[in-house]
Amino acid sequence: MGEAVQHRALPGTPGGRPVPMRDEQSSAFWDAAARHVLAVAKCTKCGQATLPPDVTCPHCLTTEPEFTFEPVSGRGHIRSWTIIRRSFLQGFDLPFVLVDVELADVPGLRMIARLLDGPAAKLSLGLAVTAAFEDLTADCSVPAFRLESAA
Ligand SMILES: [Zn+2]
Repeated sequence: MGEAVQHRALPGTPGGRPVPMRDEQSSAFWDAAARHVLAVAKCTKCGQATLPPDVTCPHCLTTEPEFTFEPVSGRGHIRSWTIIRRSFLQGFDLPFVLVDVELADVPGLRMIARLLDGPAAKLSLGLAVTAAFEDLTADCSVPAFRLESAA
């Protein structure tokens, strides 16, 4: 037997749900989310929005992108969804719904997040949703969605 593997303790809620870790590039996104504002990254070179920001801009292909985060309404519509019945991450009540949402303010921009209406919600393609936020800690809220019909 070799030496025990040292696992770095990741931040989590008391229930064990992982808390996202900020980095330099994502910090403004999480600052906005903590205020319950959904923000998308915009490339300062071409002005196109992307989620999440990456090491290259998917629109103008610059390898030195500089992204700024701009708030959006959070409204959108469901393009697809799936129900998660098993999770390799702790701290989630199962089952839960993940939705693929196209944001109304940025046609073509898609975001995948939890739908907070629960697995019994009646879903269909094109259904209107709006951003909602799960407050994991005092300074970390995770964007999710809620059906507009239920809001
Ligand atoms: Zn660009």
